[in-house]
Amino acid sequence: VVLHQPGQRSLLGLLAPRLPFSHRNYAASMQVSRRVALERGDGTRASALSMYANPPTEHLSVGEFEDFALDRLRLLSMIDMARAKGLKGDALESVIRKARNELMPNTPVGARKDVYSHFILRLAYCRSEELRRWFLQNELELFKWRFVNNAPDDRNSWLLAHGLKYQAISREEFESIREELAQVMAARREDPAAIAAIDRTEHYKVPFEEVIDLVRQRRVFLRGGFAYVPESDLVSIVSNQVRMLWSKQLATISRSWPALRADEAERLAGFLEGLASQYVGEDYSKPRSGTKVSLSELPTIARRSFPLCMHNMYSKLQDTHHLKHTARMQFGLFLKAIGLTYEESLAFWRAQFTKNMPQDKFDKEYRYGVRYNYGLEGKRQDWSPYQCSKIIGSPGSNAAAGEHHGCPFRNFDEGQLRAQMQQMQISNADASFIVEKVRGHHYQVACGKYFEAKHAGTTLIETELGGITHPNQYFEESVKFYAPPEVEAAPTSEQSDQFGKD
Ligand code: SF4
Repeated sequence: VVLHQPGQRSLLGLLAPRLPFSHRNYAASMQVSRRVALERGDGTRASALSMYANPPTEHLSVGEFEDFALDRLRLLSMIDMARAKGLKGDALESVIRKARNELMPNTPVGARKDVYSHFILRLAYCRSEELRRWFLQNELELFKWRFVNNAPDDRNSWLLAHGLKYQAISREEFESIREELAQVMAARREDPAAIAAIDRTEHYKVPFEEVIDLVRQRRVFLRGGFAYVPESDLVSIVSNQVRMLWSKQLATISRSWPALRADEAERLAGFLEGLASQYVGEDYSKPRSGTKVSLSELPTIARRSFPLCMHNMYSKLQDTHHLKHTARMQFGLFLKAIGLTYEESLAFWRAQFTKNMPQDKFDKEYRYGVRYNYGLEGKRQDWSPYQCSKIIGSPGSNAAAGEHHGCPFRNFDEGQLRAQMQQMQISNADASFIVEKVRGHHYQVACGKYFEAKHAGTTLIETELGGITHPNQYFEESVKFYAPPEVEAAPTSEQSDQFGKD
C-alpha cells in the first residue's frame, strides 16, 4: 500500500502551504537547505534544520506512515516531558539531543523520516486549539535546538535561503564595534562567562523595526538603522516567525480536515485521529513485576502503591459501593493489568456492588462489563489499561454527579488538591511543587512528584522516566520500591575454593 496513488489526490500534497515570508522560489531554497544540512566538521551527515515549507511527495507505505508518526510522537513527548519538568539550557539540550539521536538520527534516512513525520503530525494535531498548541510548542523547541546547534555558516545560508535577511556581521565590522557590543551585554546583566565569550558570539544585523521589543528593552546596540542582535536573541526572532508560519498552516489544514477525513476514512483517518491519545511508552498491559496481587492484599496495596486516580476510584467504591461506567472501565482495566484474574475481579466488584443491591441485579447489569474488560464479551478483545494521556485528555469527571474517573491532578480544584495532599501526608513543600505543576498543566510531572513524596528517597522525575505516563507504570515502580532487596547468592563451593586460593 502506498500513501500517494498515481492519479489520486495526495494526502500530503494537500498540505502545501502558501509561500512563507518571501517571494523566493522554494524549490531553490529547499536545495540550499539540503546543502546546509551538514553538521559542523562532518561531511557525511545531513542536518534536519527545516521550516518544512514543502510537503514531500514521494511514495510512502502505510506501515512507514504509522512508524514515522509514532517515532515523531515519541520525540515530541520526550521534549514535552522535559519542558514540563522545567528543564532548561544544557539539561534540556541533552534530552533533545538524546531523543533526536535515538528516534530521528541525523542521517539521510533520519532526515526523510523527519520531514514525513512532521507533516503527518500536522494532520493529527490540526484539529483543536489544544492539540495545535501542544504540537507547536514541542516542534518549536526542537527547531530552536537545531537552530542554535547548526554551524554559523550553515545557519547564515539557511536564513538567506528562507528569505530571512539576518546576516552575521563580518569579523572587521565586529572588531569596529566590539566595545559597544560588550557594553550592551554588560548592561543586559549577562553572565560574565557569556561576556568573556563575546569573541565567539555571532551578532546579526537586523532592521531595527523588526526587533522593537529588544530596542525598547535596550538589549541591542543600534547603528545606522540596524540592531546588532546576539545569536541568543536571534533564535527567538526566527522561531517566532516560524511559529507564525506553522500556526497559519495548521489553521489551514484544520479547515481542510473534514474533506481529508472523508477521503481517508478507511485508510488513515482513524489512525490520525487516535494518534494524539496514542500511548508510546512501555507496555503495561500485563503485570511486569512478577508480584501476584491477591484480593486480600488489595486494601494495603491500594494505600501504598495505587496512583492518585486509582486510589480515588478505589476509595469512592469503598464509600458508595458503586462506580459509573467510565470509572469501572478505567479502574477495572487497571486491576486486570496488575494481575487480578477474571474470577478475582468478578468477586471484587460483586462484593462491593452487592452491599447496595441484590446479587441478581449485579449479575444482570454489571457482570457483563467485567467480562467485557477481560475479552469475554462484545468484540472479545484483550483490552489494555488506559494510559495517562488518554485519562487526562478524556472529558473530566463530575464528582457531584457521582463520576470519579479521570486524573485528579487535572480534575480537582486547587483547594481539593491541597486537602487531598494533606490527607495523603504529603509535605507542604512537595504539595506546593505539585500545585505549581498542575497550574502549568503538567499533570504527569505533578504525579511523578507525588510518587516521590510517597516513596521516600526516590528521584523519579530526575531520571529518564521523567514523570508518570501510565497508572500501571506508577504501580510497577511502587512495587519495585517495596520489593525486598535481592539477597546475593552464596558462593558455590567451587567459587569458595577459588576465593580461598588467594
Ligand atoms: Fe493517574 Fe496518570 Fe493522573 Fe497520575 S498522571 S493520577 S497515573 S492519570
